[in-house]
Amino acid sequence: HAKIEYEPFRKDFYTEPSDLAGMTEAEVANLRLELDDIKIRGSNVPTPVQKWSQCGLGVQTLDVVRKLGYESLTSIQAQAIPAIMSGRNTIGVAKTGSGKTAAFLIPMFRHIKDQRPLAAMEGPIGLIMTPTRELAVQIHKDCKPYLKALNLRAVCAYGGAPIKDQISDLKRGAEIVVCTPGRVLDLLAANSGRVLNLNRVTYVVLDEADRMFDMGFEPQVMKIVNRIRPDRQTVLFSATFPKSMESLARKALTNPIEITVGGRSVVASEITQIVEVRNEDKKFVRLLELLGNLYSDDANEDVRSLIFVERQEAADALLQELMRKGYPCMSIHGGKDQIDRDSTIEDFKAGIFPVLIATSVAARGLDVKQLKLVVNYDAPNHMEDYVHRVGRTGRAGNTGTAVTFITEEQDRYAVDIAKALKQSGQEVPEPVKKLVDGFHEKVRAGKEHKAGNNAGFGGKGLDRLDEERETAR
Ligand code: ADP
Ligand code: MG
Repeated sequence: HAKIEYEPFRKDFYTEPSDLAGMTEAEVANLRLELDDIKIRGSNVPTPVQKWSQCGLGVQTLDVVRKLGYESLTSIQAQAIPAIMSGRNTIGVAKTGSGKTAAFLIPMFRHIKDQRPLAAMEGPIGLIMTPTRELAVQIHKDCKPYLKALNLRAVCAYGGAPIKDQISDLKRGAEIVVCTPGRVLDLLAANSGRVLNLNRVTYVVLDEADRMFDMGFEPQVMKIVNRIRPDRQTVLFSATFPKSMESLARKALTNPIEITVGGRSVVASEITQIVEVRNEDKKFVRLLELLGNLYSDDANEDVRSLIFVERQEAADALLQELMRKGYPCMSIHGGKDQIDRDSTIEDFKAGIFPVLIATSVAARGLDVKQLKLVVNYDAPNHMEDYVHRVGRTGRAGNTGTAVTFITEEQDRYAVDIAKALKQSGQEVPEPVKKLVDGFHEKVRAGKEHKAGNNAGFGGKGLDRLDEERETAR
């Protein structure tokens, strides 16, 4: 970095409105409590804003926000937007569906618009990293209304799609790149570095950082981040913030403001969580019953359901069986190519078919308002995965139901699921409690190793990543 002469840039765009500046400490504390119990760490944290007009945004942006129907800010937005607009590195932790995307996009546009336009071969200024292509696509889509209004360009770059197309998109110029870490590294290496150049990047987003970490992307993320000027602004958003992620955060963000919304209750209260102990051979009948109950009510004609299975073979098998029972459905998983997965998600959103079968990774970040039912046909094997799966329903304050099947043999998984239930204030059903107790009993007797949340992190995460990249190829 010492060899490159970076241009100066501005990152503080925020002046506290006088009505906020006049609040007493007690009033500010009370306001944070009302905003889903916002907890903060760090020095000089601005007071949460209460209206969009207090954020210091231009009319074009405010116009888009109004057109999107965002009447008020969500809690994370109320605190994170003034923090980021002040130029601070910011960590935002809030449950899924709480509006984290807008919390990092809106300040980013302000940041970018302040800079001189891109010259040929320059760009991007904003770099958004996210663990999966589905999520990258979603964020790219969320950018679109602002891009038009502000005359900015965004390119989406992820593995599994032809790199050629992404290269030509980048060559046309883009102020914003939304990407998965692996693909950024590929692009940086392409044409001896003439395709993607990070010299003008001054705003970096790590979105769904917990997933990124869980999938073993930490080395890639750090490699990329270390190639960006050290005085950049970095923001990190996540639904959960496991202890094991702290060192990544410390390395990527200096002197951050940390914002946590809603304490440790990780699943939105709008989502009813049901967990049932079911043997493998009883699952299908129960699934039919759940779908039958839902769709026999005409009021639910437009409602969507998402069914999670562990492996792609299981997804295809279940698809056949459900089709035979008369449910129009489709599946997405790592074995399908990107174009298929994208168009399947489009059709699902459009309501062309009501039931989608997916593996966890393929459905990451899926945001469909009409999604009312999530079924974990195969139980997720750790808490973060559980939280993300059930968080596909209950979007933007809507209600939803998540039903999880767990077999007697999966007592190990019951531990994390019970923890998630407890932390979101829901009762742990008796049969699930029994599984948990049974597992602890085995651990005490030395028959099982205790493997908590972190079982999938580190080495195993990297293997999984390699596997995924292989499948994508
Ligand atoms: P997260 O990343 O926290 O899981 P998203 O950013 O995907 O959540 O937002 C979830 C949904 O809430 C999206 O459909 C988004 O358009 C909507 N949303 C975001 N901000 C607001 C707001 N201020 N008012 C109403 N809806 C919002
Ligand atoms: Mg998000």
